[in-house]
Amino acid sequence: MDKISIVIPCYNEEESIPLFYKEIKKQEEKMENVSFELWFVDDGSKDKSLELMKELHEKDKEVHYLSFSRNFGKEAAIYAGLEAATGNYITLMDVDLQDPPKLLEEMYESITKEGYDVVATKSTSRNGYSFFRKTFTKWFYHLINKISKVEMVDGARDYRLMKRKVVKEIIKMKEYNRYSKGLFSFIGFKTKWITYENPERSAGNTKFNFWKLFAYAVEGIVGFSTVPLAIAAIVGLLFCLISFFMILVIIVRTLIWSDPTSGWPSMVCIMFFLSGIQLFCTGIIGEYLSKTYLETKHRPIYILRESSEEEEE
Ligand code: UDP
Ligand code: MG
Repeated sequence: MDKISIVIPCYNEEESIPLFYKEIKKQEEKMENVSFELWFVDDGSKDKSLELMKELHEKDKEVHYLSFSRNFGKEAAIYAGLEAATGNYITLMDVDLQDPPKLLEEMYESITKEGYDVVATKSTSRNGYSFFRKTFTKWFYHLINKISKVEMVDGARDYRLMKRKVVKEIIKMKEYNRYSKGLFSFIGFKTKWITYENPERSAGNTKFNFWKLFAYAVEGIVGFSTVPLAIAAIVGLLFCLISFFMILVIIVRTLIWSDPTSGWPSMVCIMFFLSGIQLFCTGIIGEYLSKTYLETKHRPIYILRESSEEEEE
């Protein structure tokens, strides 16, 4: 009998956990010859999420939980869950039911019968997200696909069913600054894409505000492209060419009309402009340097405070 491990990152999700559990159990009943193993990862929640996980674990041995010592972020929760999962197939799901459990049936069929290693999902619409976020995300995908070597699928969700061997490769990548969408794309494997219209969040609010999302986007760009680093060089070269041209103009002008002292305001504007560009480029280099700095410290991706496994030892 096949076992599907379901990894569910949770951050302050006391409203969604019971709804999710009910739905996933319904789904398990529908699927013959498959058992589920649930890995709830409590990413430092401050509400009753952990208590709910413990209650579920008490009454259902298929439910396991890992609880972090603080909020480490969804990426860290994904990593911890993937490491702990024991099933021969493993999937990632959000607890807010924006990843419909009913798709698991189709995903499982594809992976077992059609010879795929991964069945990934992408949503056609971004229901339940603000206009601002939709626009920002669209720009981001447009940009990253231009400058990154691995393809980032617009609308891709983290919801995907993977064979164990695929997950093993993901776990091998122990980088601290994680951008899973890029990592999944980086490892390759035969992937089938399923498209669906994603529903709105079942309960609670999104855990990603603009700045968290922005930082995540920067993570993606810095992690999967070095093109921004070349910007300094290209812009520098461009300005050298422009200044060369300007010097010529000034020499010719002085020779013809002698040298009237003027142009102070334009000089200040140019100085401001160039200093801005220089700082911007230094900032880009700083961004890469800071990520490298964090990477060299080899800090753990997450720290456990407690888990269902320890308790039984
Ligand atoms: N999440 C997490 N840690 C965080 C933020 C989010 O584990 O720091 C979890 C959250 O509980 C949910 C999933 O990641 O199960 C997706 O979060 P959310 O639905 O808020 O994101 P959105 O759908 O708005 O992108
Ligand atoms: Mg969500």
